[in-house]
Amino acid sequence: MGWLGLDDTDSLKEGCTTYSFHLLLESLPPSVTVLSPRLVRLWPFAQHRTRGNAAVAVELHVGDEGELLEYLQRFWEEHLLPAKGRISPSKHDARVQSPADPGMVWFSNEQPAEDFYTMAVQSEVQLDEVPEADHSWGGQGRIGATAAVAWRQKKCTWEAIAWREPKRHGQNERDVCEQSLAMIDLMTSTFLSRDPRKGTGLVSPRGPCPVLFGVRARDASSALEAGNQLLAAELTEFAVGLRVFVTNQATDDHLSHSQNGTVAHVRILNRGNTVITTESGKWLAFAESGSVKKLAQWLQPGDVIEGYGLSPEFGVLHLEKLRVVSAHPNQHRPMCDECSVRMKSMGKGQGCRCPQCKQRTEDTWESVTRNPPYDSWVQPPLDARRHLARPLEWMDSTDLS
Ligand SMILES: [Zn+2]
Repeated sequence: MGWLGLDDTDSLKEGCTTYSFHLLLESLPPSVTVLSPRLVRLWPFAQHRTRGNAAVAVELHVGDEGELLEYLQRFWEEHLLPAKGRISPSKHDARVQSPADPGMVWFSNEQPAEDFYTMAVQSEVQLDEVPEADHSWGGQGRIGATAAVAWRQKKCTWEAIAWREPKRHGQNERDVCEQSLAMIDLMTSTFLSRDPRKGTGLVSPRGPCPVLFGVRARDASSALEAGNQLLAAELTEFAVGLRVFVTNQATDDHLSHSQNGTVAHVRILNRGNTVITTESGKWLAFAESGSVKKLAQWLQPGDVIEGYGLSPEFGVLHLEKLRVVSAHPNQHRPMCDECSVRMKSMGKGQGCRCPQCKQRTEDTWESVTRNPPYDSWVQPPLDARRHLARPLEWMDSTDLS
């Protein structure tokens, strides 16, 4: 028994860690039994992150460890090591790309401490912080590989991933049957299959990587059923394999606790990105974040808000979930009883006067309640959420403070 982890075998243009892993599992020595493979998403802002920032791992039952290690060594040299240093420019992504630096780890008995997973999904981790494996290969990729092994699966979802034929790798288009996908989307356990607003599929990546599709579900059997159904459809292109991964997608494991703040200032930038300044720093609602942006733009100074998000740097929160705790009322001058016109201040300490009948009152204010456009938590639309984001619809009181 032992745990194998793998990460960072892809660049933007070539390869995919899940595909390398599939090939590795396909040709294991016959004495090895493969348990559930896992796909683990990690800290989205990691400096050396790969395209989707996902690592893979699996528990193996092993008859002959020596034979397995020999196989892993050979597979490493022939298939994984050549990926090192691969890099390619991307039209979609302006960030500087790190060259691929694959890593593979083997833990003979026990998983490394769970803390390491939490660290690697919630923060930037350095290579010298990685718990030592019984056997390890490569560089930066060992961070993700080890974190994927350390994950305890307290919350999880499932994804059936299918890969295209090698001759199709490198092409951006994929043939996945729309009609079959619409059926799959109707299954109660599947999620994020189609965007209901746009009617477009969300299962296929856009780039040239080997993945044909990944169908997500809340249980393993639905993921498998949906994946097989999609593959069997006539209009879906041929795939070389399909595997169901247990994943930390839609778990919110990347978020620690919510933050509270009082709004000091709201600024709308071009494109609609919105910056809320609070006493605890700047909270950002991105243009594509739908209701989160809409709520952010409604806010006024004095409003108390609660939010979940990631801090790529100190004092900045990228909002993923937002709600209004209390809305600061608007202050108005009273209305004139006679004319139903709002009175105006005569100057500090001078009282108010009706602009029509000139009737005067004391210097007073009236509070007018403001009702937020949403009475509870809001989240970005489907296509603007992180893989790790847990949909609000799944949450109960224990998930939200
Ligand atoms: Zn009046």
